[in-house]
Amino acid sequence: MSKAAEDLVLVINSGSSSIKYQLMDPESGMVAVSGAVERIGEDEGGIEQHADGETVRQRSTIADHQAGLRLVFDTLTAAGYDVVRGGVCAVGHRVVHGGEVFYRPTLIDDTVIAAIRELASLAPLHNPANLAGIESVCELLPGVPQVAVFDTAFFHSLPAAAKTYAIDAKIAAAYGIRKYGFHGTSHEYVSGRTAELLGRAPAELNQIIFHLGNGASAAAVRGGRPIDTTMGLTPLEGLVMGSRPGDLDPGIVPHLVRTAQLDIDQIDNLLNRDSGLKGLAGVNDFRELQRLIAGGDQAAELAYDVYVHRVRRYLGAYLIELGAVDAIVFTAGVGENNPQLRADVLAGLTRFGIDIDPAANTAKDRSARRISPADAPVAVLVVPTDEELAIARAARQVVAERP
Ligand code: AMP
Repeated sequence: MSKAAEDLVLVINSGSSSIKYQLMDPESGMVAVSGAVERIGEDEGGIEQHADGETVRQRSTIADHQAGLRLVFDTLTAAGYDVVRGGVCAVGHRVVHGGEVFYRPTLIDDTVIAAIRELASLAPLHNPANLAGIESVCELLPGVPQVAVFDTAFFHSLPAAAKTYAIDAKIAAAYGIRKYGFHGTSHEYVSGRTAELLGRAPAELNQIIFHLGNGASAAAVRGGRPIDTTMGLTPLEGLVMGSRPGDLDPGIVPHLVRTAQLDIDQIDNLLNRDSGLKGLAGVNDFRELQRLIAGGDQAAELAYDVYVHRVRRYLGAYLIELGAVDAIVFTAGVGENNPQLRADVLAGLTRFGIDIDPAANTAKDRSARRISPADAPVAVLVVPTDEELAIARAARQVVAERP
């Protein structure tokens, strides 16, 4: 049996050793199939797929991204979705860095592929992996339109004062050094959903959004446009994350080169994989951190305090930048699921009109909702993010508007 897939969009998030995918209806948000290929290039990899209430798991060695995507298409076909012969409306790819070049969802052709490749110097860990997914789909699904949706796009028009680093302007210009911001697809989607939930036009609202997942970032959004964000040239700046430190004194890097004789790859590794919660407490997962805290682990307690301190620092900064705030929004794995963290981040701020209703905050409810008292001047909300849906909708729109 083959099910009609021509109205569906295949969303692909191709990372260095994994490919996450969803086959979905961009109109309704219905997810027909979701899955992930893991451990590409390792001895034992595999795929896990959920379709029509059934889960399929399969172990095998997956040499590269093209082999991974072939496995995805075979597994989709086995579930009745033969996207190779039956087609899909479009493939939407998450691409991490769009640099100065890309600031809207873009139909992929050879010129776009070359430009994404050139941007690899700005995102060496991400863009090459995104590109591997795009090139594999080009080969395996020729003729199906592919659309790149960039994590940086929403922040393209950040005000100059917010996006400029105070270093030698000629060096900055020569090497593309500015704040680009990331998680843009999530911040844009969540700020739009927040306006919908509050029954207001985005243009009327000042919002502070905390995307707190394994990666974490905050954005100050005025009238639907971002005026500041925490991530920078790379996704390392800003909040404390699972394994990234967020803000650091840049002097730490030359200090480590001189005193610990670390080379550039070791520093990259330290900052991308061994810092943040992992560096402080040995675990990058917030649930594990909480288990350690419950057991009296002091390093875990300190990691939590540093995390909360950093979020509050940016809350304060963005309150002042916006002047007045209508909504504070929590999203992503930690933001959506951790009432204790939300309470600690917003503790003692009643004088700023910021309060949460403890019952609403701790309710076992996974839907988008307000967690501040109805009469509080600032609405505090939990809004589940859905980057895949945002990518699917963007891809479908680009395809519909094609000349
Ligand atoms: P994300 O990157 O958005 O998938 O978020 C991953 C982070 O969210 C991890 O640190 C998880 O521990 C945390 N997380 C995910 N689900 C839950 C949950 N149900 N309760 C608490 N934390 C969660």
